[in-house]
Amino acid sequence: MIIIAATQNKHKIYEFGKIFGVKVYPAAELGIFTDPEEDGTTFAENSEIKARAIYEEVKKLDNIPDNEYIVVADDSGLCVDALGGAPGIYSARYASTDGHNSNDEENLQKVLDELKDVPAGKRQAYFACAICAVDQNGKATHTEARIYGEIIREKKGENGFGYDPIFFVPEYGKTTAELSVEEKNAISHRGKALRQLKEILWS
Ligand code: IMP
Repeated sequence: MIIIAATQNKHKIYEFGKIFGVKVYPAAELGIFTDPEEDGTTFAENSEIKARAIYEEVKKLDNIPDNEYIVVADDSGLCVDALGGAPGIYSARYASTDGHNSNDEENLQKVLDELKDVPAGKRQAYFACAICAVDQNGKATHTEARIYGEIIREKKGENGFGYDPIFFVPEYGKTTAELSVEEKNAISHRGKALRQLKEILWS
């Protein structure tokens, strides 16, 4: 069994591999560069759009490295209470002016700017992650999970990606950018959703 990851994000690929303990092939490594429009209205819909787009391309290949495979895609984002759940499904392109993905630093600064007058105690947020796995017969399995925290006023920590430097987890007294990969995997939205998937597929 191999996993074909419908992402090129190396942080996510590393997390997938750590949790599943099997070989993970980024779709690009199989020569698949499909990048479908994520026009769903929920994280779950967008994760299935990504997984199915790659699955349709994988079906055309005759050199799959194993007989059994699943295509795994995630869609994730930051939801801030004081912003009515934004950036939500638009997290990767929150600061964009042309609808394409914008860079992590610009997105994070936009959230900090929008929260500048929001006092401590009203800065709750969560990361959400929806995973969709499409098996070689085209059957989709969905999981979804969250991690709760709050948005601090200045960046802290060097690890992770995206909004990690401003996402503070009270139980750990750290931002997710101050956690190691293993610590973050143990509590993160993506870690939890991936472990749920592993349980459903392999228990
Ligand atoms: P996706 O790759 O389309 O799922 O976009 C997810 C976006 O949400 C990323 O570009 C990040 O900005 C943000 N995001 C999702 N998960 C995380 C995380 O674990 N840490 C920090 N930011 C995240």
